[in-house]
Amino acid sequence: MKTDLKDLTMKELENYLERLGEKKFRAKQIFSWIYKGAGSFGEMTDLSLELRQKLEENAEIKKLRILKVQHSEKDGTRKYLFGLEDGNSIESVFMKYKFGNTVCISSQAGCRMGCSFCASAINGLQRNLTAGEMADQILSIEKDTGEKVGNIVVMGTGEPLDNYENLSGFIRNINDKSGLNIGMRNITVSTCGLVPKIPDIAADFPQINLAVSLHAPNDSIRNKLMPISRRYPMDELLKACRRHVGLTGRRITFEYALVRGVNDSDRNGEELADKLRGLNCHVNLIPLNRVAETGLYGTERADAERFCALLEKRGIQVTIRRELGSDIDAACGQLRLISD
Ligand code: SF4
Repeated sequence: MKTDLKDLTMKELENYLERLGEKKFRAKQIFSWIYKGAGSFGEMTDLSLELRQKLEENAEIKKLRILKVQHSEKDGTRKYLFGLEDGNSIESVFMKYKFGNTVCISSQAGCRMGCSFCASAINGLQRNLTAGEMADQILSIEKDTGEKVGNIVVMGTGEPLDNYENLSGFIRNINDKSGLNIGMRNITVSTCGLVPKIPDIAADFPQINLAVSLHAPNDSIRNKLMPISRRYPMDELLKACRRHVGLTGRRITFEYALVRGVNDSDRNGEELADKLRGLNCHVNLIPLNRVAETGLYGTERADAERFCALLEKRGIQVTIRRELGSDIDAACGQLRLISD
């Protein structure tokens, strides 16, 4: 079986080339061609013909297929449906923010976390994405839009920390100067609360932004929305978050999808503020987008503003997220696995 070079980190590529009897400094050249978007070894004109042929025989550079692109009339957001080699498909979203172009990528085909408000969870986990498949979402979007992407959020389909090894390779590759050269502080990884994996982020990638999907002020509500909460209750999760902030010195983001009549009352807001007091954090309120199958509805705008003001009054840094791409079902929680 041929090795997909896009899956390898620089170090792994060096080792791979040594195994092929080549000098390891070639890795930098090859790596940089891959992240410039080269789709074949023939394009790597600064490599000898002999090496190109050897690579042709032993390795490959896989590419995602764009199956569909939806453009938002409202704000320039584009939602991509990509086909994987095995027939699975994944979604990614390109967004234009004031601070720069951002791509939200998927880390798994499907997801096994089962959050009740999420379209991605409906068919369960199909499989983990490779580091190359994660990176190729960005490369394909840069090629299609003709625009450079400066910020990455791993917040599409899948639980990134449930695919930690490939996620790590992906982060190293897009951060590498010969790769996409995206700064650690421009990378955000979101988790639904896989507590045992949170210390790994502080140890391996202390500068990236960590976003934790909280969505509730207590276990009884969280258990209903997010089954992971039964395994790792909120106290444990918040303890891990406090430790993370202590170790990294970085502010943590809590995502809180406002679900009408479920987690959006004044009492819920007060309880949330009590739990987060003294923690260096920012709460991102997300008026839930309705996903037909879930039977849950988003909080009305006026109620979201009331909830936001209540937290603010209690000293919590909070904003209501501006929803991009809601007219093309590209907003959070609407990413969906579609089987071929
Ligand atoms: S919200 Fe995220 S973690 Fe939860 S089921 Fe959906 S993709 Fe998985």
